[in-house]
Amino acid sequence: MTNALDLAAPSVRKLAPYVPGKPLSELEREYGIRDSIKLASNENPLGPGTKARAAIAKSIDELGLYPDGSGFELKQALAKHHAVSAERITLGNGSNDLLVLLAEAFLTTEVEAVYSQYCFAIYPIVVQATGATARIATAFPESHAMALGHDLDAMGKLVNDKTRLVFVANPNNPTGTWVDTNALKHFISSLPSTTLVVVDEAYIQYALNDLAMDASKWIDEFPNLVVTRTFSKAYGLAGLRVGYALSSVEVASVLNRVRQPFNVNSLALVAALAALDDHEHLRRTAELNAKGMRQVLEGLKALNVCVYPSACNFVLVDCKHPAAEVNEALLRQGVIVRPVSGYELPTHVRITIGTEQENARMLMALRLALE
Ligand SMILES: *Cc1c(COP(=O)(O)O)cnc(C)c1O
Repeated sequence: MTNALDLAAPSVRKLAPYVPGKPLSELEREYGIRDSIKLASNENPLGPGTKARAAIAKSIDELGLYPDGSGFELKQALAKHHAVSAERITLGNGSNDLLVLLAEAFLTTEVEAVYSQYCFAIYPIVVQATGATARIATAFPESHAMALGHDLDAMGKLVNDKTRLVFVANPNNPTGTWVDTNALKHFISSLPSTTLVVVDEAYIQYALNDLAMDASKWIDEFPNLVVTRTFSKAYGLAGLRVGYALSSVEVASVLNRVRQPFNVNSLALVAALAALDDHEHLRRTAELNAKGMRQVLEGLKALNVCVYPSACNFVLVDCKHPAAEVNEALLRQGVIVRPVSGYELPTHVRITIGTEQENARMLMALRLALE
């Protein structure tokens, strides 16, 4: 048979697959160790809240049936939560699904997309897969207060009449950086009506102290604004895969054309619905993260590393040493973090804030790894 790669679409042939955080089971299999910890994928150390757990348990009997393809109840609850009409909401199999749908719906080989250097790794992948031209804005330099963060002015300069999508992660992964609220609003208002701007708010629940306002409030004002949210991070439902987009009704109906009819599974639908109003779980999550962040920042001070400001549940750390070696030394001690060499940051690792115990163990392992 002909090599399958030769048969693949040219845009797909050049794609490098996304490299996820190493699963615990894989590490333990490979290294023959136990009791390892994972601080690699920005998951909530508390997991799902009690309300989501109860909703999932109650729905097991219905798994023989297809899910509600319209996600009616969850959309109604989200509409209420954001005080928008339900027609502005698109549900996704994780917010990653929405990024794919946006690219499929709006990008072709004839048009362009803009994102920043050091942005979330999925943007380059979804853009490349369509064959659209990617325009990559240089990020803020190391000397800037928001080092490695999105430079909205630089991004704006790359926008032209062929630009269909601009991706802004606020805050951004893997850098943890955020953009100024007024600057973001000005940026959005300066875009041509032929350019959609996707503001990815995957970490917004952690960032509320750092941001004056989130972009979900501007959906009415800007018809070309799309805000994506997820239940994977602060809500602790990463394994279920559910996220959503807020947009104009017109954009939502375009996304609905490319969406798989049952893209969100039934457990995800009921768990997200229950999680949305579990304020107690969100409060505990934010509190644990704030405490853990202080612990980790304090611990890292004692090491010869450089830490970037973060509004998220992780920190980006420049180890000033090849990250592959640091990572290997951590893995041998049963600690999984995320090297980010794929982002052209060869001496950096991204570390998720875990429980107090996990943070302490990571700090000790990192100290040994750097020695
Ligand atoms: C984790 C993450 C997402 C998406 O996660 P899903 O699990 O697909 O919802 C989106 N954007 C950023 C910046 C992320 O870090």
